[in-house]
Amino acid sequence: MNVHVHINAKESYQVHFSSRAELCSPLDHSDVVGYWCRKHSHRKEKATMSRETISWSAALCIFSYFLHGVDMRNINAAYDKLRESPASQCGYLSCHPTKPNMLNVHLIAHTHDDVGWLKTVDQYYYGSETNIQKAGVQYIIDSVVDALIKDPEKRFIYVESAFFFKWWKEQTSSVQESVKKLVSEGRLEFIGGAWSMNDEATTHYQSIIDQFSWGLRRLNDTFGECGRPRIGWQIDPFGHSREMASIFAQMGFDGMFFGRLDYQDKDERLMTKNAEMIWHGSANLGKSSDLFTGALYNNYQAPDGFCFDILCSDDPIIDGKHSPDNNVKERVDTFLDYAKTQSKYYRTDNVIITMGGDFTYQAAQVYYKNLDKLIRYANARQVNGSNINLIYSTPSCYLKSLHESGITWPTKSDDFFPYASDPHAYWTGYFTSRPTIKRFERDGNHFLQVCKQLSAIAPKKSAEFEPHLTFMRETLGIMQHHDAITGTEKQKVALDYAKRLSVGIRACAANTRSVLNQLSVQSETSASTSETRSDYIFDFKICPLLNITSCPVSESNERFALTLYNPLAHFTDEYVRVPVTHYNYKVIDNKGVTMEIQLLPIPSAVMKMKNRSSNAQYELVFFATNLPPLGYRTYYIEKLNSPEEFLRPSFSPKKTSSLTVIGNEYIKLGFDTNGFLSEVTADGLTRIVSQEFLYYEGAKGNNAEFLNRSSGAYIFRPNKNKIHFVANQVDIEVYRGEIVQEVHQKFNDWISQVVRVYRSKSYAEFEWLIGPIPIDDDVGKEVITRFNSGIESAGIFYTDSNGREMIKRQRNRRDTWNVKLNEEVSGNYYPVTTKITLEDTTARMAILTDRAQGGSSLQDGALELMVHRRLLHDDAFGVGEALNETEHGKGLIARGKHLFFFGQSGTRKGISLKATERIVQIESLLPTWKFFSNMKSYNAEEWRTSFRNIFNGISVVLPKSVHLLTLEPWHLNQLLVRFEHIMEKGEDVHYSRSVQINVKDVLSTFKIDDMRETTLDGNAWLNETQRLQFVPDSEEEVYNSYATFSKLAKTVHLLSAAKPLLGVKYSDEALPSGQLGAESNRLKRNVHTGPFDSHKDDQASGPKGVDISFISDSDDKKYIIELSPMEIRTFVVYLSGY
Ligand SMILES: [Zn+2]
Repeated sequence: MNVHVHINAKESYQVHFSSRAELCSPLDHSDVVGYWCRKHSHRKEKATMSRETISWSAALCIFSYFLHGVDMRNINAAYDKLRESPASQCGYLSCHPTKPNMLNVHLIAHTHDDVGWLKTVDQYYYGSETNIQKAGVQYIIDSVVDALIKDPEKRFIYVESAFFFKWWKEQTSSVQESVKKLVSEGRLEFIGGAWSMNDEATTHYQSIIDQFSWGLRRLNDTFGECGRPRIGWQIDPFGHSREMASIFAQMGFDGMFFGRLDYQDKDERLMTKNAEMIWHGSANLGKSSDLFTGALYNNYQAPDGFCFDILCSDDPIIDGKHSPDNNVKERVDTFLDYAKTQSKYYRTDNVIITMGGDFTYQAAQVYYKNLDKLIRYANARQVNGSNINLIYSTPSCYLKSLHESGITWPTKSDDFFPYASDPHAYWTGYFTSRPTIKRFERDGNHFLQVCKQLSAIAPKKSAEFEPHLTFMRETLGIMQHHDAITGTEKQKVALDYAKRLSVGIRACAANTRSVLNQLSVQSETSASTSETRSDYIFDFKICPLLNITSCPVSESNERFALTLYNPLAHFTDEYVRVPVTHYNYKVIDNKGVTMEIQLLPIPSAVMKMKNRSSNAQYELVFFATNLPPLGYRTYYIEKLNSPEEFLRPSFSPKKTSSLTVIGNEYIKLGFDTNGFLSEVTADGLTRIVSQEFLYYEGAKGNNAEFLNRSSGAYIFRPNKNKIHFVANQVDIEVYRGEIVQEVHQKFNDWISQVVRVYRSKSYAEFEWLIGPIPIDDDVGKEVITRFNSGIESAGIFYTDSNGREMIKRQRNRRDTWNVKLNEEVSGNYYPVTTKITLEDTTARMAILTDRAQGGSSLQDGALELMVHRRLLHDDAFGVGEALNETEHGKGLIARGKHLFFFGQSGTRKGISLKATERIVQIESLLPTWKFFSNMKSYNAEEWRTSFRNIFNGISVVLPKSVHLLTLEPWHLNQLLVRFEHIMEKGEDVHYSRSVQINVKDVLSTFKIDDMRETTLDGNAWLNETQRLQFVPDSEEEVYNSYATFSKLAKTVHLLSAAKPLLGVKYSDEALPSGQLGAESNRLKRNVHTGPFDSHKDDQASGPKGVDISFISDSDDKKYIIELSPMEIRTFVVYLSGY
């Protein structure tokens, strides 16, 4: 690190280096890295991408192999009774004692195992492709377990459940027993524990919560209480979101440590001893979302020169008494100096030193042997007056020591975005990198939720449901990894992720097909009870290429049915678009009513997409209304033989002298004579608003010094902030119908857009299509869409945090330090997972995205979002490839939607704009899932009278401010259920109010025996969960009352994290001992020996009301829950077995 060029270098800069820079940056000449980079450089093929590169969408079809190769775990294994050591001494009880009046150095033996990056998940696990990276996770766990068994003093933490459970199922029962013992004694400790270490910028909270729930559940099922992590360990993600802190707090975690924060922020925090803090995770939830958070001193690496791993070439401790190479004194001196230096920047007499790195401990004894010596020789000096004490420790033991220090801590309320590792390296490119995999992941989450719900609702459950669902859960867990959804992996690894996701979708599609057949076929025919696919009456096919307006079922059948499954817990209306080959169609609904339809031509840019094998010429649009919650409505679509010429779409040309206007009574958009959007009328306001596409030139450099940094997969660095308009003139075609009005815009050969307004919607859709981005001028391009308005936003704009709370941003400013920006564009970019907005006292503009993107407001009134990027150089943070995605030999095309809202910022009649945005946000995240079935065998009348073409999965509809975030089969005869209030305080007079619901009424289609609230992850009882409380610095007067809990505490001070429960306290609900885990905060499984079919109640006959006659008043009360703004409450619901 001594070769880093530091601008304004200060002493403390020496601690700012990134492991990624170390891995492959030419800036770094350390031997360790040199080895790796030299090896790696052989593979650095000058940014050539494979020709076989396949689009994510196409991957679904191409990799559609059957499930034989899929990892299907036996569901019964999950119910194996656990034997825990009666004398469990895990967690805080297993910590080695620290010494008073000494500097206690907590050595953390750890490995950072990326769930895919330069190699695929399996290549990392098995250790293949060693020429890319010497990394084999199976050897890591093997050798660590061996080392731990041999010596009870040693400690190790493990993080990534995706890898651990892959290893676990390969072990013999005796090895498993040994590992259980290690875990029960706290020698092997799980930290983080999610399926992967998720990114925090581009991930959606629903997926983060899901992947933690699953990882923690597997740990719980396997190890019980001692397997439950208490500490978040986000050491590598590239910046940190406030929502993630809130999620950790709500899961009952005591604290979180991370590695990467802006180099200026880190400098300042270290100098002022503010690197460890209490983070207020939510502006709505109060202290239940507070999380103790620590920024690690040295990312997650060992101190320079002390990587004892086989991957490193640092010297071992040479202690041969007469060896000429004996280096004990010098090495111990150096290490103790390092520890002393580090301690200057932190508040207590404890420091945490990470002894590990990427894929370290493949031969654990090498590291451990030297750590043993380091500890022994360093501590031996204590007899001669040394006051430094080295111990094997874990992050939880370090946190325990911090807590016991009894001191107070600074607080923080904003987040750690954007992350800059040097003055020209803002990690804001990955907010957009690989836009199609970012969208594919969102589709995956959508289908996962549908699959969970239908698997839970199913009258009969086939044995394959659970393994299919689990495969999908785990795939989405992998997708959240900080080198997966971020787009910072190598191309072939990205393809592997896409392939996994397509297999997962196919697996779950087998579930949904079975359930929908059961529900649709009411009669006593074989289909209603069949479990084999040959007996299915309907296909219920999914069309994964709808994103390029292609669907084989609707294109090749004269008669087909479209089933719209609504995964929300309220009725929805939706404008449905179906690719068809002709303009003569008839659509009837389940009652036989003929629907009003409109035909639109498929935009020419889509038609021209190379290798889009589709015969569709038109899109058929109709308005589907009253789609039942957690249910479906099916439509019958038939091609007519008699041509109905009036349906043939025709366009009106652009006006040459006045505005071209499309819209409805709520919103009107005007386009000028050059074809650009120029005016918006909405909500009683008429304003000049324009929209245009531009691109930045990606900076290119040799990365030899900061100034020569290239724009790449991680880094957004426009070349001298140069920006180009893509067109002065836009060709437009205007289509006006009763249902929708559209302007088809063509900006140039590689950028087009459809702007549309549906009849009853108060917002407009901008469906953009970008690519192939040309590179024949040898310039990498980063394409943005920009909306300009006259709104006087004074540098202020708002972006969402993982799709939930909005965070205020101010141009050229950070909340907690005086930022010096050397990159004025990329340094003002923030992650936009779902929404970006700005406003002044009268007007407000908001844009919802359909995937994560980078965004900013670089001028008052303007919002920009980066939609696609294609670059020709690597940014030297390890990935070793330029971000130059191709398909079929050409640059990758990306298509997506922005939903544009405009209106009054203040109070107005009816629902506020903010609340409308929230509701549309949920409805566009989880719209209906479209299932297609061919109808060769049934005419419309037969179809209508023979099958159940409407189904409602819940009987009491939730208010629109409440989202049924989760409904999934959990353990046997259990559901995991989450209710979420989707409004923030003050967003709407009506919708931001607290809401009460009766869970039993909502879920009355299930026979509910009992229900109990858990932490957010669903794996610990809420009322038995206690968190370490930390005391904020006294000048934080707002939080002074907090201090009364454990001020001056010298021992671990535990406090119940109870929530308001309408006066019904769980502690008053006596639970029979041994049942529902009353004596422990771990969820115990009820041991059932029955078949997997968990509830035989006949949903097939439709939803029923609750039978109140057998519900006593006190019983009923416990099902009434209250939700305040932004609150999520999680329950395990017990279903009656039979
Ligand atoms: Zn990583």
